[in-house]
Amino acid sequence: MSKYIYADNAATTQLDPDAFEAMKEFFIDAYGNPSQPYSFSRKAKKALKDSREIIANCINAEPDEIYFTSGGTESDNWALKGFSINQNRKGIIVSPIEHHAVINAVKSLESDGFNVNFLKVTTEGIVLPSFLESVIDADTGIVSVMLANNEIGSIQPVKELAQIAHNSGSVFHTDAVQAVGHLNIDVKDLQVDMLSASAHKFNGPKGIGFLYIKEGTSLQTFMDGGAQERRLRAGTENVPSIVGMAIALKKNCEQIEKVTYKLRRMESAFLDVLEKAGIDYRRNGSGNSIPGIINISIKRANGEMLLHRLDLKHIYISTGSACDSQNTQVSHVIKAINVPEEYSEGTIRISFGKNNDYLDAENMANTIVKIID
Ligand code: PLP
Repeated sequence: MSKYIYADNAATTQLDPDAFEAMKEFFIDAYGNPSQPYSFSRKAKKALKDSREIIANCINAEPDEIYFTSGGTESDNWALKGFSINQNRKGIIVSPIEHHAVINAVKSLESDGFNVNFLKVTTEGIVLPSFLESVIDADTGIVSVMLANNEIGSIQPVKELAQIAHNSGSVFHTDAVQAVGHLNIDVKDLQVDMLSASAHKFNGPKGIGFLYIKEGTSLQTFMDGGAQERRLRAGTENVPSIVGMAIALKKNCEQIEKVTYKLRRMESAFLDVLEKAGIDYRRNGSGNSIPGIINISIKRANGEMLLHRLDLKHIYISTGSACDSQNTQVSHVIKAINVPEEYSEGTIRISFGKNNDYLDAENMANTIVKIID
């Protein structure tokens, strides 16, 4: 068995070595400020332009529709607050299983006088189009539903939801932090107006991400200052991280089919061991989910205890939301999908990534069976 098994890729991923290599040059040699006109900055300026194009290509956007941010949290906050702030329409609709970057952003808008409506979800964690149709009205300014959930992996019918939002004259944002680099994404086909992404979820560096803003969508400036990011998000660009993000995304996108195939087989290998051992568990989420995410609730088990026992064996998984690991309560996602009480406390999330292998899946499952026994 390898020294450790890291199976918490929905929390963060290992930096891709090619991305790391590509970044180095922009720390040490080509470190010029891309806004400067002299030749020393030319390389950095070109790298910025190329990276924007690579990223745009990966999601079928135009390069000018990509705005670099510090990650998923910033992108979500900017999309929701930057859009709502000057709107006459005061209604905001989100799903109840959004990441806290969305939930807390809309709560903050609520305290500023906006009306926030939380949609229903099915027990599989899906927002059915009819759920949105029944609550959207002429006061709805923005609808935000994530492309894929970070805890249970469920993929939402975003295209249908975006169409409903548009029919009502509303704008549609999707938090695609767990989806970008793992699913084929075409923003034109999805018809979304804004889409959030974060590099460290797709083997890029931490602290960098982007917000896709469809041309013509009006957003308040995120930060005032220089003219960077078409005057909407000031501050000298993080060139090394932007370069690393683009390389990692391109590589992941080229490998999606291959990696998906491997991850699905690992999911089966893991679950087969639990089945054979007769563990009483339920798998949370829907049949259509992000490859590699297995969220299970084990009857009368304790997820927290399992996490710590696995930690002692150098196996790393998560219980509730990774970004909320201080919280020992059952997560808002598990509550929203109504996991029965005798199961909910025994919830764990395993999220395999491209660097895991089948043996990891089997070894982990066998260790879990031993602990449960
Ligand atoms: N949205 C989702 C769905 C996430 O999973 C996360 C991180 O876990 C975020 C937003 C926040 O992203 P970042 O860590 O880049 O701020």
